[in-house]
Amino acid sequence: MQSAYPIEEIRADFPILSRTVRGGKPLVYLDNASTTQKPVQVISAIDDYYRNHNANIHRAVYELAEEATGAYEAARDKVARFINSPSREEVIFVRGTTEAINLVAYSWGRANVGPGDIIVTTEYEHHSNIVPWQLLAKEKGAELAYIDIDEKGELLLEQLDEHLETGRVKLVTFSLMSNVLGTISDVQGIASRCKAAGVPVLIDGAQAAPHMRVDVQALGCDFFAFSGHKMLAPTGIGALWVRREILEKMGPFHGGGDMIREVHKFETTWNDLPYKFEAGTPNIADTVGFGAAIDYLEGLGMEDVRRHEKSITEYALKRMAGVKGMTIYGTDEISRRGGVISFNFADVHPHDVAQIVDGEGVAIRSGHHCAQVLMEKLCVPATNRASFYVYNTREDVDALVTSLDKVARLFK
Ligand code: PLP
Repeated sequence: MQSAYPIEEIRADFPILSRTVRGGKPLVYLDNASTTQKPVQVISAIDDYYRNHNANIHRAVYELAEEATGAYEAARDKVARFINSPSREEVIFVRGTTEAINLVAYSWGRANVGPGDIIVTTEYEHHSNIVPWQLLAKEKGAELAYIDIDEKGELLLEQLDEHLETGRVKLVTFSLMSNVLGTISDVQGIASRCKAAGVPVLIDGAQAAPHMRVDVQALGCDFFAFSGHKMLAPTGIGALWVRREILEKMGPFHGGGDMIREVHKFETTWNDLPYKFEAGTPNIADTVGFGAAIDYLEGLGMEDVRRHEKSITEYALKRMAGVKGMTIYGTDEISRRGGVISFNFADVHPHDVAQIVDGEGVAIRSGHHCAQVLMEKLCVPATNRASFYVYNTREDVDALVTSLDKVARLFK
């Protein structure tokens, strides 16, 4: 028999969840697609690192330096295991998804994309999976093409076929889970088409990695980018996975210490993988925190994380459908979406909605969610967004719905 999800124990691990806001209201945190709260296990790992082990890594021979290096590299092993990387050398630590994608656009893109080539992305991308490609396309005289979405927020894959038929596509890049609609992309559909055409695939895993089991080998991708802070880890740390055959041919991104083997006046040779891509002193303490976050999630089990979020999201979709005057975006097929719900009230600005909801202690996001291309498609300047994580409960959803009912009453 499947054991019950230990929600009370989980909530007790997050000190911030016991604070109050707005004059004594319990905090209901529903902005997890933006960033997540941190469990005491992650906070303690960082605290312990600074109290007991702090030193620079990969250099000195003294004991503290050995410990710091060991802790940093242990986190790499954890990330590699978490995404089922064939090896630890294919895991590069970066500041987050944004830096990971920029690294690919710079190091791989500048060597492999030329005039007339096409980079295919989608209409529901975060700006960090659009702007680096715009910069590259402008610099190289290449084109950026989009896969549009249908009215349910699903990608129109026949458009991918059309792009691939040109024979000019150099890269297909997409978010495994949309940060606005919650849509889970048809990764098999995309990867199989790209494989048949011999085109590499980059997955923006910022929203997927925190919420479902990720296996980079099973996904059939060549690049996978994600951020620690959306999966219980600190801000400023994330990872990029690159398939070894590709990574071995890529030139460096940043130049500086640690990424070199030998530096002479006019020539430099590069360090081994993955250090060639990690110039300068990295974010050691937060990398250790990232490892602790992975331990925490693996302790819960990613299947259980997904199951819990599915049940909360299903409940939320049902309850929110009863709020007067509200439009909910995206598919209502629960297996096709993650724990992100974007919505709008007709004629009420999302910021006003978020402010009223905040007055009840409920933190949701309002704005364009760094997805202005998608906002244009939806013909709105902004939406409200509630997003769930491991510690959210049905009571949190009830608090959201009560505050949304208040909005509906105020603006009727
Ligand atoms: N991609 C998606 C789908 C996201 O949701 C986000 C953040 O919201 C990013 C990329 C950028 O992540 P970061 O700001 O951690 O680099």
